[in-house]
Amino acid sequence: MHELSIATSLFEQVQRHTPPATRVSGLRVRIGPMQGIEPDSLRFGWEVVWKQSQSDGSAPVPELALEMLPWRLTCPQCSRKWESAELYVACECGCATPAIDGSSELQLVSIEVQDK
Ligand SMILES: [Zn+2]
Repeated sequence: MHELSIATSLFEQVQRHTPPATRVSGLRVRIGPMQGIEPDSLRFGWEVVWKQSQSDGSAPVPELALEMLPWRLTCPQCSRKWESAELYVACECGCATPAIDGSSELQLVSIEVQDK
């Protein structure tokens, strides 16, 4: 499952950025549509990865806030750039094959920690 490997890499990033005893309460992730991620699958994968990492199973699963970005498209004919929830859309000028611009982000934006 694609989402499980992404959840694993998120978990590794969280570990790198927080001291071992830190209580992580949530994280915010920005995801481009090129990643093809199903938010529910990623939340599930995250839960699995997190629970496996807790030897005593006591720490609650940090909340995963997902920021799903729209497609960024560029028209090869009129150079218009725009954002769209749909990939297969035609440009206003009639060009039916806009090019994808970026859209492959997978970025851990922030980590929330709880004071003890
Ligand atoms: Zn156009």
